[in-house]
Amino acid sequence: MENYYNQNHTKNNEKNGTQPLTISNDQQNNSPHFTQTQHPQFVKTCLECNAKIKGRVDKRFCDDNCRSAFHNKHNRTQLLITREINAVLRRNRQILKDIFETNHSETIVSKQQLEKKGFSFEFLTHSKEKSKAEQAKYCYEFGYLELKEGQFKIYKNQDITGF
Ligand SMILES: [Zn+2]
Repeated sequence: MENYYNQNHTKNNEKNGTQPLTISNDQQNNSPHFTQTQHPQFVKTCLECNAKIKGRVDKRFCDDNCRSAFHNKHNRTQLLITREINAVLRRNRQILKDIFETNHSETIVSKQQLEKKGFSFEFLTHSKEKSKAEQAKYCYEFGYLELKEGQFKIYKNQDITGF
């Protein structure tokens, strides 16, 4: 997903030879590219279709269709990225929830047991201090705390405002 995004961005920057999407007008006016646009050799091209652009120097698209096609693509990429991460977080939450509810209390589980179920330790929503030395990590309302090497205690935190 990240590759797709980067490729697209690189491609568009190469095509156009100017700054990425987020540039403000102020920055654009101060940038070396602005002076380049004054140069007779420099031809501006549309970020979407690569056609030559006539008109104002800060114009980035040939028309509204190209503008919205470009932004739709950008938004779609962002949607795919967040959707993928949300899916991992929801799976983590479901794994913790299943373990917690099967045992009807706070539960101890090994790292191997969690990994076997497909738990991804690198994805969490937030963390919370249980004591000075202990940070419980949460996927939504279900959390875990490493007690000793490879052993985790599962928590449920219903106090949403406590997040
Ligand atoms: Zn265009």
